[in-house]
Amino acid sequence: MTASGTSMAAAPLVGVYAQPDLVLARGEGSWVWDEDGRRYLDFTAGIAVNALGHGSPVIAQAIQEALATGLIHTSNLYRTRPVAELAETLIGLAFPGRAFFCNSGAEANEAALKFARRWAGSGGPETRREFISFRGAFHGRLFGTLAVTDREAYQAPFRPLMPGVHFREVGDVGGVDALLSSGTIAAVFIEPLQGEGGVRLIPADFLRSLRELCDRHGALLVFDEVQCGLGRTGKLFAHQHADVTPDVMTLAKPLAGGLPMGAVLVTEPVASALRPGDHGTTFGGSPLVATVALAVVRAISEPSFLRGVTERGGFLRKGLEGLARRSKRVEGVRGMGLLQGLVLEGPSTAVVTAAREKGLLVVAAGTDVVRVIPPLNVDYEDLEFGLEILEEILA
Ligand SMILES: *Cc1c(COP(=O)(O)O)cnc(C)c1O
Repeated sequence: MTASGTSMAAAPLVGVYAQPDLVLARGEGSWVWDEDGRRYLDFTAGIAVNALGHGSPVIAQAIQEALATGLIHTSNLYRTRPVAELAETLIGLAFPGRAFFCNSGAEANEAALKFARRWAGSGGPETRREFISFRGAFHGRLFGTLAVTDREAYQAPFRPLMPGVHFREVGDVGGVDALLSSGTIAAVFIEPLQGEGGVRLIPADFLRSLRELCDRHGALLVFDEVQCGLGRTGKLFAHQHADVTPDVMTLAKPLAGGLPMGAVLVTEPVASALRPGDHGTTFGGSPLVATVALAVVRAISEPSFLRGVTERGGFLRKGLEGLARRSKRVEGVRGMGLLQGLVLEGPSTAVVTAAREKGLLVVAAGTDVVRVIPPLNVDYEDLEFGLEILEEILA
């Protein structure tokens, strides 16, 4: 029983999360504390959400500023200035086009699926209703996004899903070409750096091939940067490493510093296919959340901030590679910037548990990868401390 009398393990919550016993009560920077006062180094960052760490003054100030207006929510019946400014800022940083705001990564991808079909049905060829996705992909858990997610265990209990999805191996240019030639594909969905599926970087030349093929066959290229976007890889957007621009990009996790927000950025040809009533959301793009997102995006997009991510990422990578050399249980290291994965010989869950018991929070990706995703402004000492704990467990 806690101070307030609630038995946490017996709380009447639906059992879709396998949660450990600890109860988090407080956070600061890269650290969180449980109700018993025990502290943990948080290299999950709320699953790549808390980019500026816990208790960020940037976020607190933005929330205060938004609260001072008295307008937390207006719905999309009306315009507000923070939403317009956020759209302008993101479009200025990404590629020319327009933005749509929603409340999560899955919602952003769900909107992208709809936008692609709408574009195909009004600007592009009417026959294009289907989608291509890739092995290892994760795009969300709603019926459309689950259908483009490559995880049998997530899909199986919920079929039938949205039909018309074709999976190909990353790198299978010929297979993608053949599918696109059929004239039935509206869009190709891909994460430039796969997160949940096991921290796999998509080779730049494959992204470039997809761009060429989509242009040649008249399909949209959709980059899901929900996890890898907004600074995580050391550039503001992961696709900038490959110098390939998509027609549609989805964002979410770190966008509003922990408040729920997703975004879909689309080029003008896609935007011009969309009409009032085609899509919508009650909560998407509230002035409060948009004000916080503006502050987060401004902080993260500073060149010095992004350089800091690259340097921290390099430090972490070197440490993990050293560990991989010394440990028989580690096969290798994958990833980019501050989204790194330790590829293990066996299941990742045991390492995640052992790390937590030693005061380090990390999260699994796929079955055999431990994901290390600290806040983007993590201290070097904290990176060292986290590496030491991993070393103790894996040595
Ligand atoms: C987390 C994630 C999603 C889903 O986002 P939710 O906010 O959990 O719905 C989609 N795509 C990628 C790449 C993700 O990492």
